Amino acid sequence: SKARLFDEKTDIKTTFKDVAGLEGAKEEIQEIVEFLKNPEKYTNLGGKIPKGALLVGPPGTGKTLLAKAVAGEAKVPFFSLSGSDFVEMFVGVGASRVRDLFKQAKEKAPAIIFIDEIDAVGRARGKNNFSGSNDERENTLNQLLTEMDGFGTNSHVIVLAATNRADVLDKALMRAGRFDRQIFVDLPDIRERKEIFEVHLAPLKKVENLDTDFLAKQTPGFSGADIANVCNEAALIAARKEKTAVDKQDFLDAVDRIVGGLEKKNKIVT
Ligand code: ATP
Repeated sequence: SKARLFDEKTDIKTTFKDVAGLEGAKEEIQEIVEFLKNPEKYTNLGGKIPKGALLVGPPGTGKTLLAKAVAGEAKVPFFSLSGSDFVEMFVGVGASRVRDLFKQAKEKAPAIIFIDEIDAVGRARGKNNFSGSNDERENTLNQLLTEMDGFGTNSHVIVLAATNRADVLDKALMRAGRFDRQIFVDLPDIRERKEIFEVHLAPLKKVENLDTDFLAKQTPGFSGADIANVCNEAALIAARKEKTAVDKQDFLDAVDRIVGGLEKKNKIVT
């Protein structure tokens, strides 16, 4: 059987309630939910539904979560894949995989296609990427552009793509009728970190008087993914100590551990 390039999910339960903070991004992307729920309302007046939007921001800030929530809110199928998969796994077949993906999504329309790490495939053409697979990558990128131009505005497929490197993307991707909207998804501020803690604390058995303002204050620079990690680590630390509820000290120990991990990661990068 064929190796699976993309993932197809229907009946997605994720909604905007699962995405803490990011008020501006949610407001902007709400428009896309409306288009998907009721495309004719817009096309009847001669308007063209956008084909794509780019979610731009640092790692772990909820871009994938937000894209999934769009599908959950609009109750449409979610086709997802990662740009790095195209380039790494399917040498020689990237372009045909792109064609496949769009064909499937159109059959199930209205639908969302989500491309994570679009920069892996969408870096400016004609520049050395040191991996030796430039032609392959360019063919795949060209096919992606062809598909986005090819499907009519009434195909009701919207492509969301995520990147933390919008600056390296081929400008052709951002042209009108392609990813002509950019939605910024930033690291959370203190108030947003508190909200993210509240989402990820909800399923935990914890002491009653946990101060989420305090936790938010202890975690500057943390992404949503880091905070989800802290909550999980705290639960594991408490369990290891045979506790019956996660307490403040477990969270502080978890924060220390995550900070240690982040410092190591930064050392490797720089
Ligand atoms: P990457 O660029 O690394 O792919 P991303 O921006 O797509 O990251 P997600 O994969 O959406 O980030 O986030 C990872 C996890 O972190 C989510 O599944 C969720 O558990 C948590 N998370 C991130 N941001 C938020 C948020 N705003 N609210 C609630 N949870 C969040």
